[in-house]
Amino acid sequence: MTSQNYELLLRRCKLLSAPDRTEIVDIAISAPCTANGTVSRTIAAIASHIDGTAAIELDVQNQLVSPPFVESHIHLDSALTAGEPRWNESGTLFEGIEIWHDRKQTLSLEDVKQRAIATLKQQAAQGVLFVRSHADVSEASLTALVALLEVREDVKDWLTLQVVAFPQDGIYGSPKNQDLMEEALKMGVDVIGGIPHYELTREDGVNSVHQIFKWAEQYDRLIDIHCDEIDDDQSRFLEVVAACAIRHGMGSRVTASHTTAFGSYNNAYAFKLLGFLQRTQLNFIANPLINITLQGRTDTYPKRRGVTRVKELWQQGINVSLGHDCIQDPWYSLGTGNMLDVASMAVHVCQMTGMAEIDACYNMVTWNGAKTLNLEEYGIAVGKPANLIVLDACDRYDAIRRRATVRHVISQGKLLTKTSPAEVTWQE
Ligand SMILES: [Zn+2]
Repeated sequence: MTSQNYELLLRRCKLLSAPDRTEIVDIAISAPCTANGTVSRTIAAIASHIDGTAAIELDVQNQLVSPPFVESHIHLDSALTAGEPRWNESGTLFEGIEIWHDRKQTLSLEDVKQRAIATLKQQAAQGVLFVRSHADVSEASLTALVALLEVREDVKDWLTLQVVAFPQDGIYGSPKNQDLMEEALKMGVDVIGGIPHYELTREDGVNSVHQIFKWAEQYDRLIDIHCDEIDDDQSRFLEVVAACAIRHGMGSRVTASHTTAFGSYNNAYAFKLLGFLQRTQLNFIANPLINITLQGRTDTYPKRRGVTRVKELWQQGINVSLGHDCIQDPWYSLGTGNMLDVASMAVHVCQMTGMAEIDACYNMVTWNGAKTLNLEEYGIAVGKPANLIVLDACDRYDAIRRRATVRHVISQGKLLTKTSPAEVTWQE
């Protein structure tokens, strides 16, 4: 029997082959083959020992091999602008929107593209290979959108980017905004966004959700709505999104982002709503780093955490993923793109410190994110595209606790980045 020649062989992997399964195996990645003009490398074999040789062979030494991280909610158009033209001194969402309004007057195609690609590189080096980014479509020039659609194309050989048409100033806040949303749809956005709690009236908010579902059917797109991102316990657009998802039968293609008001609802209402949500198959995204810093700003004490009910949604079997939302912008001046920071903050803020709960928070930045993005072929299995990461960790708990270094990132069968963990030398 002749031994096979592979592109890449990973020896002694502690493979997370499913959200509930770990095994010690070798993984082989095939040489590239071209089909329909695209070059692809797939997982050729997974076994306790694989005979063969490869152009690159890595001994993983029983460290954790995981599907790549999924960043399910970020704004790449505003990333890396913190302090421009001024710092958000109050730390509120609304001062952030004012600062962004001023900053976006000087937006250019090159400016957005350069910052977006720099951010994506930071993310990819830390194991993120699937990203959903919102693009502000409130400006007549649609500069942010054009730039992010170009970036989607520029990075497609090493990272999958979904772009959301996000009406930052509301769909009905200005007469031109509806046309801009339709223009964005025609230009090829993957997802339709919304911001019902920031429309001028409650009625406008409800109407905006109906309009978004209408567009989603007409243009066959996914939906991801910034929903109830406020501490107001009367902000109740989530029930409207849930009702539309049930009536249109589109639940798994719909995402409610933030839903921070859900953390402030009275329990009688919240538990009624949870029952409806179970019927919808909606996806949820919490952004714990920014939610804990932006929300609760008008409270004295007790001060609310301002994060949606992640643990309760998870306990009901509802899909929850986690995002950064912002990296160094007017709303959140911190962040590095490390999804383990996000998962760690969720463990703390959502009080998910049980072992199964910590594993669940890891799954929220991997498999659950893939489900939110409606990704096909996510995960590590024979025949799937070869996307995987090697962590300097022995399990999910270890990875989150130490925010473990991602040592190798393999994207579409190619070794994309290598990072060495920091090393301490004691001096006598
Ligand atoms: Zn957002």
